[in-house]
Amino acid sequence: MKLVNFFQLLVLSLLLATCAKNPVTGKREVMLMSESEEIKLGAESDPEIVAEFGVFENPELQAFINEKGNEMAKISHRSSLPFHFKILDSPVVNAFALPGGYVYFTRGILAHFNNEAQFAGVLGHEIGHVTARHGANQYSKQMLAEIGLAIGASISKELETFAEIAGVGLQLLFMKYGREDESQSDELGVEYSSRTGNDGKQMADFFKTLDKLGGEGEDRMPAFLSTHPAPLDRFEKVGELTKVWQEKLPNKSFSVNRDSYLRRIDDMPYGEDPQQGFVEKSVFYHPALAFYFPVPKDWTLTNTPSEVDITEESGNALLIFDLAKENDFELALKETLDENELVVVRDKNRRINGFQAMEAELKQKTPESGAEPITIKLILIQDGKNMFRFLAIAQGKEVKSFNASMDNAVDGFSRLTDREKLNRQVERIQIVSVRRNGTFAEVLADYKMPAARHKELAILNGMELTDRVTSNMLVKVIKNLKPE
Ligand SMILES: [Zn+2]
Repeated sequence: MKLVNFFQLLVLSLLLATCAKNPVTGKREVMLMSESEEIKLGAESDPEIVAEFGVFENPELQAFINEKGNEMAKISHRSSLPFHFKILDSPVVNAFALPGGYVYFTRGILAHFNNEAQFAGVLGHEIGHVTARHGANQYSKQMLAEIGLAIGASISKELETFAEIAGVGLQLLFMKYGREDESQSDELGVEYSSRTGNDGKQMADFFKTLDKLGGEGEDRMPAFLSTHPAPLDRFEKVGELTKVWQEKLPNKSFSVNRDSYLRRIDDMPYGEDPQQGFVEKSVFYHPALAFYFPVPKDWTLTNTPSEVDITEESGNALLIFDLAKENDFELALKETLDENELVVVRDKNRRINGFQAMEAELKQKTPESGAEPITIKLILIQDGKNMFRFLAIAQGKEVKSFNASMDNAVDGFSRLTDREKLNRQVERIQIVSVRRNGTFAEVLADYKMPAARHKELAILNGMELTDRVTSNMLVKVIKNLKPE
């Protein structure tokens, strides 16, 4: 771009930018995005979020979060903005908001709340991001990060661009807010939840749950935890703010609503849904689509609703498995070539464990100059109306052994007939009443929860295993326990 054009553009954009009052601080600030643009951005991103995770269908729970969400939106700094509250079908513990009033909870975070006040605190925090226009203020391409899960971090630069083109990227856009924005949202969370009669101390407690979950790391979404200030600092701060707000509202009572909240999440799915695919002893099983294939040892498998990505440790090999849109070998081949800017070197028809298949050796139309050559193999497998697709990509000195590992996975693709695996159901939260006074660990033993799951159940219940519990108290246990 010529310099003069750049300055013209800059002047133009400053002219277009309006100076608007921030709804929360009341300060005037330069806004590059109007309210209607904000709403438009939210409305455009929402279908992507929904397509990626799916909506968790539960009319009663949905009605509950709508009611609480709208009640809080009404007393917020942007009471006339139309808000949308959704529950995503993800086991990850997370909540987030998009500009324009789109607020999301995962079923994973709803499962981890232990009362309505905790939910209300996080609801207030997310509404706070919207009312203080954090997303709108920070909106720029650089501020949007993909929920790339493990992929982005674990594969080499060359393969990364590949994976994105192949659609790994879950083109999901995610807001990353700074520490100041997070602290402000915590404050707004306490304010809004206090004004709607919730005990903010419970919100503080939930940060302890987040802190314990944070220790587990691995495949959790990065958003809620890592971009926020340290959970234990927030615990302190939110505790102090709660005192301030409760004094500011002397005529209000602040409730916790533990039992009523727990009953709402009774029977809710917990953790990954095995019907959508699971790994056991280095084999990936997909009961809903009735197939399985071996996973190369020590490679990392990431299962998303749109595809399965299997990455080799050094990041120099990637096996992508998904469904082609086209259900015809030639058309599915063309679809793959177009998506990835590839050309065919050679192809052949073959059979894989009774399935009709096509295998094609491909190469990049325009390889990056100087980069190490990349080997690319496409394998299409037809199963009735489904066209399964493996794309095996490798580079570097160990290409031969990587390709052998990937061939082994593809050649092992088979029909799943094992009834136990086909019928495996998602675990569910079960709300039970404690039978006798004792420790939480004793309750878990009474309900025959395996010892290996006790620590996890303590976190889920916001308790320590040594905590005293009393007869008739409600707690969460798990039913449909997966085999140990
Ligand atoms: Zn936040």
